[in-house]
Amino acid sequence: MAHEAAIAALSAAFGDQCVTTDAVRDHHARGEAHHTPVRPDAVVFVTSTEEVAKAMQICSAHGCPIVPFGVGTSMEGHVVPLRGGVSLDLSKMDKILSVHPEDLDVVVQPGVTRRRLNEELRDTGLFFPVDPGADASIGGMTATRASGTNAVRYGTMRECVLALEVVLADGRVIRTGTRARKSSAGYDLTKLMIGSEGTLGIITEITLRLFGQPEAVSSGVCTFDSIEGAVDAVIMTIQSGLPVARIEFLDELQVRAVAAYSKLDLAEKPTLFLEFHGTDAGVAEQSERFGEIAAEFGGGAFEWATKTEDRNRLWRARHDAYYACRALRPGSQGYITDACVPISRLAEAILETKKDIADSGMIAPIVGHVGDGNFHLAIMIDPEDAGELKAAEALAHRIAERALEMGGTVTGEHGVGLGKMKYMEAEHGDGYSVMADIKRALDPQNLLNPGKVVQIN
Ligand SMILES: Cc1cc2nc3c(=O)[nH]c(=O)nc-3n(C[C@H](O)[C@H](O)[C@H](O)COP(=O)(O)OP(=O)(O)OC[C@H]3O[C@@H](n4cnc5c(N)ncnc54)[C@H](O)[C@@H]3O)c2cc1C
Repeated sequence: MAHEAAIAALSAAFGDQCVTTDAVRDHHARGEAHHTPVRPDAVVFVTSTEEVAKAMQICSAHGCPIVPFGVGTSMEGHVVPLRGGVSLDLSKMDKILSVHPEDLDVVVQPGVTRRRLNEELRDTGLFFPVDPGADASIGGMTATRASGTNAVRYGTMRECVLALEVVLADGRVIRTGTRARKSSAGYDLTKLMIGSEGTLGIITEITLRLFGQPEAVSSGVCTFDSIEGAVDAVIMTIQSGLPVARIEFLDELQVRAVAAYSKLDLAEKPTLFLEFHGTDAGVAEQSERFGEIAAEFGGGAFEWATKTEDRNRLWRARHDAYYACRALRPGSQGYITDACVPISRLAEAILETKKDIADSGMIAPIVGHVGDGNFHLAIMIDPEDAGELKAAEALAHRIAERALEMGGTVTGEHGVGLGKMKYMEAEHGDGYSVMADIKRALDPQNLLNPGKVVQIN
């Protein structure tokens, strides 16, 4: 076994919290999507900041790689332990430490999942809005700078995290930020850690912003005759400052997949799922204004989901879109890619992507948090077929290049992991070498999730 001395020391320190069975190592060898799995030598299940610091110190003393693991739903091979070593599982650090309704914030451990957090908050009248499709951990969401359907109104993890506790590669435990809403006090280490994908430190505590549950909510579905019409309606909605809470695009193939998987009665046409939050009067006014915009761009009648259970069904179906895609081609695996462009370029980006998909002959539904200019492709491939993998890579490459040409980014929310590293120089220019300097300064032995985001040796 590689890293034998480190694993022996971890076993001595952690007893049966340090696991080397094949089943557990296999579970920690990969995230979602298509990347080739690599087994860690051991998985250590931690329950406190002190234990995280202890594991880090042992790994540091033995030069053993350590890859933080939330619940493993990331899409770009983030959790694959490329150089073996330890997968540090934080899912048992799942306490909600303190809720401060008067300040609209909450302090949690990283293993709390987003759904559980909202269940626990329900009676406070508050909620946490960031909602990736999977029931991800707050630690993983912070580490990937995740977002979701609500980001157009409430922001992403970048806007919703106020402060962190982080264990550094040398075992030091630091605090970044405070519960104050703003600060001009020095470098923003909180933002540096958000999106660092386990490469700069291990997040052990997170202070999150909360929001009041809206007094009134209305959701619905609007179909269009063309993709152009649907996306132009989105662009106009955003440009006119309508404070829509959710505005999600599904192309006709994605609608077919979602309707079949979630048993919804939907016309197979380019479709928007929408939601408005506010007072009764505010929501009525927003819906009416959106109706006018939609009509201008060829939108059909708006179908409302008025009952809470219908609304929940609709959004659950949207969150399950990836699994619906997999059901389109049983046995397939998703080669997932996401890109984000300035809103004015969105229609062009999606229409050209549609042409690319047609040329490739692949099954690749499009879905997106289009209010942010963000869209995703789930290219459904046979993971055993090298030719299909290559074709999917070529398709994803065109989308990434086009996003950069349009002044956008190669990933709006899924992150870099392994899959998007090849674009980092093109996106960041000299800034990428500054990222490498930061990595060297904070993790000189390159032990924290090595080989991700930035390569230093
Ligand atoms: C069906 C489906 C839908 C999805 N939809 C969305 C979406 O809408 N928006 C979106 O943004 N993402 C989406 N994702 C991707 C995924 O859910 C997010 O990337 C999520 O933030 C990952 O959280 P996780 O807990 O699974 O993290 P993991 O996959 O376990 O880890 C992700 C990364 O974070 C690091 N990490 C984990 N915990 C810590 C920690 N405590 N400290 C430091 N580093 C840590 C890991 O090392 C790794 O690099 C989706 C995934 C699926 C399967």
